[in-house]
Amino acid sequence: MSAAAPLPARQRITILGATGSIGSSTLDVITRHPERYCVHALSAASRHEALLALCLTHRPQVVVIGSAGAAEVLREALSGIESYTGAPIEVRYGEQALVDISEAPEVDSVMAAIVGAAGLLPTLAAVRAGKRVLLANKEALVCAGQLFMDAVKQHGATLLPIDSEHNAIFQCLPAQHREGLAPIGVEKLLLTASGGPFRDETEWPPERLAAVTPAQACAHPNWSMGRKISVDSATLMNKGLELIEACWLFACRPDDIQVVVHPQSVIHSMAAYSDGSVLAQMGNPDMRTPIAYALAWPERIDAGVEPLDLFQVARLDFRAADEERFPCLRLAREAIAAGGTWPAVMNAANEVAVAAFLEGQLAFDRIPLLVEAVMQARPPQVVDGLEVILSEDASARELASAQLAVLGP
Ligand code: NAD
Ligand code: MG
Repeated sequence: MSAAAPLPARQRITILGATGSIGSSTLDVITRHPERYCVHALSAASRHEALLALCLTHRPQVVVIGSAGAAEVLREALSGIESYTGAPIEVRYGEQALVDISEAPEVDSVMAAIVGAAGLLPTLAAVRAGKRVLLANKEALVCAGQLFMDAVKQHGATLLPIDSEHNAIFQCLPAQHREGLAPIGVEKLLLTASGGPFRDETEWPPERLAAVTPAQACAHPNWSMGRKISVDSATLMNKGLELIEACWLFACRPDDIQVVVHPQSVIHSMAAYSDGSVLAQMGNPDMRTPIAYALAWPERIDAGVEPLDLFQVARLDFRAADEERFPCLRLAREAIAAGGTWPAVMNAANEVAVAAFLEGQLAFDRIPLLVEAVMQARPPQVVDGLEVILSEDASARELASAQLAVLGP
């Protein structure tokens, strides 16, 4: 009898933002492949009960939560519970702990799924430690684009996009895309957008947009996502952030990217080549597909996703984005064209505006007004390091909060 071949080492994964929509989908895919993956660390800002439940199922070595008080509760609840290695589960809190679980030597891959610029430092730590980084946290790349991509190169990190559009484009480009699109004959990237819940102009004329409620804005027609990205999808700021994200990921200019509203969300984006070929990646709108792709790349694994039934889809529609009703897309174009700190300023102002809208402190149609006012007040500066990005992010948040008094209800 020949000896069985040794099992390959499992990929050890840190999940930043484990209690969120992307975090849950990631854990769903990982659970389907226990022979391939194990969880080194999980993090969440709050909601310690949800994090506790995940710890009991996945038995990470480390768990990180936002506050000392929540950490204490978790520590108590997890006392006597062993991690998958047999050691006790270590409970930590705070920013440094997030950085530590991202760069720990025993970690192979980091799923960056914190929402907002709050994810920048741990995600960058994973990049600087040369990890395989699964990037959902688009705001991190939007804020620190050049610096982030330079760090990927310098530290030999592997950056795999999770955003469905960028994951689709990644799948439609040959491996040498990292040298830019022109050498491989790509004419344009076609970035698809669902258009959000208010895409129909006759149903949602400008005067109705003023009265939109958080529940309406978060009821996305095709995707189930966290509240912040749901509002961004409704204002089209999500597509603006994604345009900037694509510029950095695929080393291209904003003019190389065309936004295409495609209400069915079945084509997740496309690459148009100089010979007339257009390659598209299709599938049901389920984030487990790009997550599984990035986890297993360059292999493919089961993601638990329903097969695409083209007869049920029946038709695919495409139209241009309405930048007049949704000015956030224009603001994002302006931010990346001016460069420097402007994308970070735009992002910070948008985070404040969206949080205010969700709390009933700002009307939906004033989100772009607030963002534009902050951008005008903080002209772009040259980025010569992380400090200027962090300080502009902080200034933009202060200005945005002050603007709430002017533009608020
Ligand atoms: P979510 O709100 O569902 O989850 C966010 C997670 O981040 C939670 O675990 C939360 O505890 C944690 N978190 C929030 N604020 C934090 C902070 N200040 N410090 C530390 N942790 C914090 O969000 P989501 O929908 O899962 O989105 C996560 C990221 O992925 C976002 O950047 C989003 O744009 C991106 N993304 C999401 C989807 C999707 O389908 N949900 C698709 C593409 C990209
Ligand atoms: Mg997307």
